[in-house]
Amino acid sequence: MNIQTIHGVIDKITDLSPTAKEITIELDSPLTFLAGAFVNLFLEDGGEKIRRAFSISSDAGTKDSLTLSIRESLQGRMSPLFWKQDMLGKSVKVMGPLGKNTADKMRGTKIFLFGFGIGVGVVKSLAAHFANRPDIESITISTGSHNNEDVMYQEYFKILSEKDARIQVRHVVSQNDGTTHFPVGYIQNYIDDMDFNNSNVYVCGQEIACTLSKGPSPQRVQRTVVSLLRLFIETPLKNFFFVLLNYCASKVSSIF
Ligand SMILES: Cc1cc2nc3c(=O)[nH]c(=O)nc-3n(C[C@H](O)[C@H](O)[C@H](O)COP(=O)(O)OP(=O)(O)OC[C@H]3O[C@@H](n4cnc5c(N)ncnc54)[C@H](O)[C@@H]3O)c2cc1C
Repeated sequence: MNIQTIHGVIDKITDLSPTAKEITIELDSPLTFLAGAFVNLFLEDGGEKIRRAFSISSDAGTKDSLTLSIRESLQGRMSPLFWKQDMLGKSVKVMGPLGKNTADKMRGTKIFLFGFGIGVGVVKSLAAHFANRPDIESITISTGSHNNEDVMYQEYFKILSEKDARIQVRHVVSQNDGTTHFPVGYIQNYIDDMDFNNSNVYVCGQEIACTLSKGPSPQRVQRTVVSLLRLFIETPLKNFFFVLLNYCASKVSSIF
């Protein structure tokens, strides 16, 4: 894909949770991208140009605008601007599409999408992509959040799964405040009923990067997924992190 730098304007800002917002950017010219891609967002702050990477959370079928799902980093530079200032109508630039962890690498027809926290934005874009493909057999979506109000895109995934019998969605929350109707715990506590044979697994969240063990057996894929999910939960938040596991009967590959 051609990497372009395109001017755009922030057209809409929607609260996803108390600490996450969806930013819609109207682009001056269309951006062609694959689900799973990210862009560098450039904007001016105090006379200085700043740049940060954000995954695209919108459907790749829409090219004249895109959405980014942004988590507030309390001591950060760019993300808090969306909480502290009126950013509507602000001029920005996006550079992209960037990233190797895109939907085209997932060549199977049985798809698992795991999203943690703000990583659910990428899962949204991937889910739209796979839902549009008639060859896809099943799409299992699992999101992990702290509590009820942090569960992002609930309505979106509900509508998607109600319209399409191939799609299963599960939201897991880690804090039990006594009112939640979601399963309580971590995503890895709820994968025993999942069959990873001949599947493609995408894991995305804001976490420290790790290395993957590679191996041919489905048990090994299962163990890898469990250990990745544990890493997401147990290690301190550092970097945005994607893992794509393609398990195709005899091969496991990972792409960072
Ligand atoms: C490929 C990729 C995709 C990404 N996709 C997304 C996405 O979809 N959504 C998303 O929200 N983010 C995403 N990120 C992360 C994003 O690029 C930014 O890193 C994030 O928004 C924080 O930027 P910031 O300017 O607010 O914080 P920065 O200024 O970059 O600060 C980074 C971290 O350092 C800490 N810090 C900064 N200054 C201080 C200080 N003085 N004292 C203590 N701590 C400090 C902040 O708390 C923050 O957590 C992605 C990153 C990559 C690499």
